[in-house]
Amino acid sequence: MEDLFDVIILGGGAAGLTAGIYSSRAKLKTLILNEGVMGGQMVLTNEIANYPGVETTKGFSVANIMKKQAKDFGCQIKSNIKITGYHLEGDLKTIELEDGRKFRSRTVVLTPGGKPRSLNIPGEDKFKGTGISYCATCDGDFFTGKEVIVVGGGNSALEEAVTLTKYASKVTIVHQFDHFQAFEHAIQEAKKDPKISFIMESELREFKGNETLESVIIENLATGELSEMKIDGVFIFVGYLPNTESLKDVVVLNQRNEIIVDPDMKTAIPGVFAAGDCIVKKYRQVTTAVADGTIAALSAMEYLRS
Ligand SMILES: Cc1cc2nc3c(=O)[nH]c(=O)nc-3n(C[C@H](O)[C@H](O)[C@H](O)COP(=O)(O)OP(=O)(O)OC[C@H]3O[C@@H](n4cnc5c(N)ncnc54)[C@H](O)[C@@H]3O)c2cc1C
Repeated sequence: MEDLFDVIILGGGAAGLTAGIYSSRAKLKTLILNEGVMGGQMVLTNEIANYPGVETTKGFSVANIMKKQAKDFGCQIKSNIKITGYHLEGDLKTIELEDGRKFRSRTVVLTPGGKPRSLNIPGEDKFKGTGISYCATCDGDFFTGKEVIVVGGGNSALEEAVTLTKYASKVTIVHQFDHFQAFEHAIQEAKKDPKISFIMESELREFKGNETLESVIIENLATGELSEMKIDGVFIFVGYLPNTESLKDVVVLNQRNEIIVDPDMKTAIPGVFAAGDCIVKKYRQVTTAVADGTIAALSAMEYLRS
């Protein structure tokens, strides 16, 4: 059995790192256990231009600064692990890893974040990584001088479409409605870019090709007409799914699999808190994840004091 912690944080994105900064700075013995890449979605983001007060706007740089801050305050971090057991009821919570290690803590903060949603249409699984991407920052460079489609009509879709114009010769945004759900400035940025064109009220129905993606079938939702469009790459930004599959029998989720918390980030289990993109909320940003992580850590401190 490993050491006993005051706070164990599950997830090393913006919310988890912030909770780690606050609780370790308060001299609480703190451990972040992170499945996947440290920094979470921040490292998938090329520019975080709307995060106040930092000179850098590179997503991975913001993530590295947060990680350094947490470690400098004494927060322990273990990444690229796999959690197999959550025992969160009672005063002492235990987290089990695949490699057999167990960690005990008086409180747990859940910050597993989310991941991009798929379209779930024929060909999507086949061409993931060979023409289909969910991350312009990671894969935009592969499409230098090529033509790509961006699917979606929210902030991510429009902002990442603009990012892609740095690489692609042409970017076509395909969106199911006749209007966008993004902030006005994001819409205007995309509209004024000469490399970006729009196919509205339309949805992709199929991805086609041999070894790599070659074309897509698009349905015009107004007329029902199907057409085939030759394309080198497709970037999909149609929302997200919370990373809560492994938590569905552990904490209370809503119908969208988001963790239900009160305004203090408390779940229904005493001593268990949740923060960031995994919880029930409307706006998912680095700033909101950071705010949630702060509240969760402060609530954990209050719980430990009482
Ligand atoms: C393409 C893109 C562009 C974006 N651009 C911006 C932007 O410009 N400005 C902005 O403010 N926001 C932006 N966002 C949103 C922002 O990145 C997120 O809202 C924020 O980073 C979420 O932080 P989080 O800590 O809640 O979750 P995440 O960043 O998802 O971090 C969760 C971490 O937990 C890990 N994990 C998952 N399950 C478990 C588990 N069971 N146990 C332990 N660890 C687990 C994950 O691997 C991940 O590392 C963007 C997002 C994307 C995808």
